[in-house]
Amino acid sequence: MHTLKERKTMKKIAIIGGGIIGATAAFYLSQLTNDHITVYDFPQGQATRASAGIISPWLSKRRNKKWYQLAKDGAHFYQKLVVDLALPDTIFSKSGVLLVRPEDSLSALEDLAHERIKDAPDMGEIQLLTGQQTKRLLPVLKEMPALYLTGGGRLDGATYLQHVKQKATANQVTFVDSYATLEKASDFWQVKTDRHTATYATVLLSPGPHLKKLLSPLGYDVDIRPQKGQLLCFQTPFKDSAQWPVAMLDGEADFIPFGHGKLLVGATHENEAGWDLTPTSEAYQSLATGITPFIDDRLTLEDYPVTYQVGTRAYTADFAPFFGALDEEPTLIVASGLGSSGLTTGPYIGYLLAQAIAQAKPQMDPYQKPLTNYLNKRL
Ligand SMILES: Cc1cc2nc3c(=O)[nH]c(=O)nc-3n(C[C@H](O)[C@H](O)[C@H](O)COP(=O)(O)OP(=O)(O)OC[C@H]3O[C@@H](n4cnc5c(N)ncnc54)[C@H](O)[C@@H]3O)c2cc1C
Repeated sequence: MHTLKERKTMKKIAIIGGGIIGATAAFYLSQLTNDHITVYDFPQGQATRASAGIISPWLSKRRNKKWYQLAKDGAHFYQKLVVDLALPDTIFSKSGVLLVRPEDSLSALEDLAHERIKDAPDMGEIQLLTGQQTKRLLPVLKEMPALYLTGGGRLDGATYLQHVKQKATANQVTFVDSYATLEKASDFWQVKTDRHTATYATVLLSPGPHLKKLLSPLGYDVDIRPQKGQLLCFQTPFKDSAQWPVAMLDGEADFIPFGHGKLLVGATHENEAGWDLTPTSEAYQSLATGITPFIDDRLTLEDYPVTYQVGTRAYTADFAPFFGALDEEPTLIVASGLGSSGLTTGPYIGYLLAQAIAQAKPQMDPYQKPLTNYLNKRL
């Protein structure tokens, strides 16, 4: 409980959107400030809950250097996150990552790994594995050579959010399960739900692809688009799946084992399907076909019960995220566009924004193009 003196100096901060950015920001803000923090979240189609969980950005072919710097530092940030949040390894673990590629491309990939590890020691050890060695690590695969990075990680997005919410609630953060809208009222912000209206000094908008809808009534055009992502969750009898590494396969489908025999296969990237959240047989077909060349012929995943995880990613024209305070409205902070790598970058972005709101002035320019590339006030 806060003392009367503390309560008099407390600022009110609202966070709209309680995915990985909003929840992490709320936790760090509750540590950095005495302010009263409220998180509004209406988790329909939330990307964090639907996600696959791979934390391994180092060998990405993307040429955007700022994005790579962010993703690399985001992966590094997990070291601090694990300690600050006391994350158990059922939520985040350094499972290791196998990159399964055609044999003739593996040595070029290994060279790239040796180049990139110079300023990314989080990659851990780099090992070129024979087919037998790969299969020993991940028995459900065929015998195929692979590049193995021991530092690759795996996050369970849904249980991460439950855990952070618990920690933040213990630090007096309030969570409201409602859709919220935002209005400007002289020098403060009004957040409205169907049940109440409250005023805030500062607002963080971390609503994924819904940012356009929230900012449009305030006169902003935002370059943000929804992308449907589906993945398959097979419940298998394998007892040691928690010890298996993640496999990033050649093509769209990856293989992400969790404990208790849970095997995820994903994910689709469906720009045209946008906001739709319906599981489709086309997604099943394309993902199942995508992994067939890689899995052991004796394993028929169709024999196991399957559920779908479907969510909406936010992406921009150049597939890069953006985050920070608006020039014209320094008390309005935004973050969106994390695309396919938001589990990797999201916690770090949440931390940086919490620092910015707490006036700690973190360096955010090295990680992104100017906000005006993505968001502008209409004339
Ligand atoms: C199928 C799939 C697989 C993925 N796999 C990976 C992976 O392996 N590795 C990786 O790094 N990333 C992965 N991602 C990407 C990652 O999940 C996202 O980039 C990240 O979770 C985005 O986080 P966020 O906090 O920006 O948004 P979200 O998690 O979408 O959270 C935003 C929240 O705000 C809520 N909201 C929006 N508007 C309002 C409003 N007006 N009022 C109240 N609440 C509102 C939404 O409903 C939602 O709950 C994957 C995504 C998907 C969909």
